[in-house]
Amino acid sequence: MEDITRREAIGGAVAGLGAMGLASAVAGKALAADGEQSSEVPTESEAKDVQAASPSDAKGYVPNLRMRNQDTLVRKDELLEQLLDEPEPEGDLTLPDGRVIPAIYVKLHNRLNRVGFGCGSEVTESCFDLYTYLWSEDDAKVCCEVPLYQWFNAWDYAEICGKSVEECDQILDDMAQRGLIARSKKSGKNYYTLQPYIAGYWEATELKTFYENGEDPYACHEILSQNGIGKDWQFNLSDNEFGLNTSCPVSVDVVAEDKLMPYMDWRQRIMQNTTVGVAACQCMIVDQCMSDQDYTDRFPLKRCMYLGDSGEYFISIGAAEAITPEEAVKIGEQCMEAGMVPEFVTAKDSDIICFCHSDECIQLQNVKKFEGTNPVSLKNYSAYNLNYDPDKCISCGACIERCPMKAISFDDENKCVHSDVCVRCGQCVTVCPASARILKARDDFPYDDMPYDYQVDNQLFFAKQRLQRGLLHDFTGTKIPDVDYGTVTDSATRTSL
Ligand code: SF4
Ligand code: SF4
Ligand code: SF4
Repeated sequence: MEDITRREAIGGAVAGLGAMGLASAVAGKALAADGEQSSEVPTESEAKDVQAASPSDAKGYVPNLRMRNQDTLVRKDELLEQLLDEPEPEGDLTLPDGRVIPAIYVKLHNRLNRVGFGCGSEVTESCFDLYTYLWSEDDAKVCCEVPLYQWFNAWDYAEICGKSVEECDQILDDMAQRGLIARSKKSGKNYYTLQPYIAGYWEATELKTFYENGEDPYACHEILSQNGIGKDWQFNLSDNEFGLNTSCPVSVDVVAEDKLMPYMDWRQRIMQNTTVGVAACQCMIVDQCMSDQDYTDRFPLKRCMYLGDSGEYFISIGAAEAITPEEAVKIGEQCMEAGMVPEFVTAKDSDIICFCHSDECIQLQNVKKFEGTNPVSLKNYSAYNLNYDPDKCISCGACIERCPMKAISFDDENKCVHSDVCVRCGQCVTVCPASARILKARDDFPYDDMPYDYQVDNQLFFAKQRLQRGLLHDFTGTKIPDVDYGTVTDSATRTSL
């Protein structure tokens, strides 16, 4: 058997992560000093103690105790401490085309890059378009004031900005309703956090627009043209070494083991939640709205699954529809039938499942677009290798037809060769009549080191990596320096996260 090791599938500069953005931020947990997740909400007895000491306008809110411990929690982590201490940019920024970006948006750009993936390091002529379109200067000011790396509530924000708790509650809730800050309800109270990835902001707005306009994709033209898809906005996500997405096998039937490896069962990821929101695939909306390409005869349109708290949030702002976990799995099965790839943000509990095909998924298209090149960012991880046995192969071509990544071709002897873009989904295994293919679990995949959730994923791997590489221009607005990221070879296999 030829063991095709998992290569670092190639991602690239232009974003389009779709559903992987905002939703996963919602269920993120505050980051403890050792990088492990822990509850950000006070226990009942802690809450009572603090409530008794709350200011008179607290309106029943209790302070988020974790925020009060910010120094002891965050500052034990050297790199997060540096991220907090890095000076913020001051002043307007003049772009190469002469446009002047007001200081508050420069600061916002910096702030989101500090939280995680943000919008990437490079300052381009269009990278401020979405900020200035979605955020008023007042909105941007709020995002620049709220605490980093944790959930906070209106009481917490009131202490920072000096407004009343009631007013802060209104401000934050209004922004959450517009998708500009992530919201999660705990014990009947709202908690908020900055989400770490710019794509999530347009994603929420796009979906709200879609649903508010009778599910008309063309109604999304304005927001889409502002996010750079129509203007080739460079999210410049290519400055991180960490794989944002992990693909998992379509089912246990395509793996050599008799069970799926930890965290690699998409059905289980759905079924362990009581709340599921399904939304239209944002990439398909983009395809239809921006280039009149309609894939609804091939793939289910409504298939982006927001799980748990993310589901509740997306449903509450009108960006997703409530369904049962069983209904969600049924939709997933339809996607598997349609030859799609199940994938999730690389985390133990990423609370979102995407089903994608490279014919229509911008994320997977970028994996293909940047094949064989580095730097990488939108690369997909897999806990599996694909094994192919040329001796068993009868050269029928069924796998070539089925592969959602178009990763397979025949060589001169009509034997299969595989490109770097294989994401180890196992769709090819489902159609092989000769049992010449199988996914085998990697023995070096670092399951234990996977980030707990999307927030930790971003903090540990995107924001901190950026800082470690010395890309401090993220925080000053200056131009990206030349950085040698090395190359990815055919045999390269990631052994650690
Ligand atoms: S194509 Fe995939 S990544 Fe894009 S929005 Fe749809 S499900 Fe999500
Ligand atoms: S179907 Fe394509 S992407 Fe999926 S495992 Fe097979 S070769 Fe790789
Ligand atoms: S489906 Fe199986 S037998 Fe057919 S070409 Fe692919 S590997 Fe060979």
